[in-house]
Amino acid sequence: MKEAQDIRALRLEDIQDYFLSIDEPKFRAKQVYEWLWKKGAQDFDQMTNLPLNLREKMKSEFVINHIRVDEMQRSEDGTIKNAVRLYDGKVVESVLIPTDTRITACISSQVGCSLDCNFCATARLKRMRNLNPDEIYDQVVAIQNEAQSFYGRPLTNIVFMGMGEPLMNYNNVLEAIDKITSPEGLGMSPKRITVSTVGLSKMIRKLADEDPKFKLALSLHSARDEVRDRIMSINLKNPVADLIQALQYWYQKTKSRVTLEYVVWKNINDGPEDIAALVRFCKQVPTKVNLIEYNPIDDGEFQQADFAAVKAYQRALQEINVVATVRRSRGKDIDAACGQLANKNELLNEA
Ligand code: SAH
Repeated sequence: MKEAQDIRALRLEDIQDYFLSIDEPKFRAKQVYEWLWKKGAQDFDQMTNLPLNLREKMKSEFVINHIRVDEMQRSEDGTIKNAVRLYDGKVVESVLIPTDTRITACISSQVGCSLDCNFCATARLKRMRNLNPDEIYDQVVAIQNEAQSFYGRPLTNIVFMGMGEPLMNYNNVLEAIDKITSPEGLGMSPKRITVSTVGLSKMIRKLADEDPKFKLALSLHSARDEVRDRIMSINLKNPVADLIQALQYWYQKTKSRVTLEYVVWKNINDGPEDIAALVRFCKQVPTKVNLIEYNPIDDGEFQQADFAAVKAYQRALQEINVVATVRRSRGKDIDAACGQLANKNELLNEA
């Protein structure tokens, strides 16, 4: 017997073709599509405006895969972390981050990560697969529901800063964003979505060519190759000069300022030459800088630099009129902060 196909892997046009092939009117496709995406149907029986025999036929040919929030943890600062189980049993994490004015969903794009940034806990997870568009979308829906039930407010922002490298799962991430922003989906504004990349110059250029309406962030952490090579091996193939060119291209195409994510570590990138290199970088590309707090994950090779060093960065950037914001960590007590997503609970359960 043919294995039933996940209907959520089909595009609207594919579903239209399906209905035409079984002599059903084309408008059925739109009905089904809205059930799947807008109304979050998990079962064909919920699709009450379809004739019963059609529902039965679809049940025999398709499945509706859905994520399940296995475990939800709440931090003392209000941050919520979901452990999300996928149809094949794998687990990713996503995070809800509330502030006075926003509720942000931080979502994953891959199971584990194939990069090996030395300071990131996700990098230690070996196994890896790309998430499907529906698995990305469902994380947003889960957080949107939690925003309403725990905070009585809607989700306002989405950041692709969970597990994985979004630009290594390029097509699925773009398709998910399409669904998140389309009126048949969640209808969110793309301006409130940020995709964060480790810095793949080729993919940044490719993305710029698609005329994207969402924002881009880049995890820079050092503007010196000799330092960045050591802490983020991807820099060996994507050196700083290439990143600058790719970001210039991005700005030229999109007119949207890139946000640089930057952690300052003791004895790694806290010296005057490090600050000077970032200043040179920012003089060449329109950016904003987020100076983020380090969340220790290990044995102490990386340590948060003194606050004075962070302040020195901020001052130097302000002098050249670059907005530099110092960000505090959220959700540290439940391992939900940047770089801490590592399915720890699942690993403990397995042990
Ligand atoms: N792969 C993408 C998406 C992950 S975003 C990217 O690299 O941008 C996760 C962010 O947290 C990145 O900016 C990453 O560099 C940062 N990060 C990783 N480990 C961290 C840690 N231990 N403390 C603080 N930030 C960390």
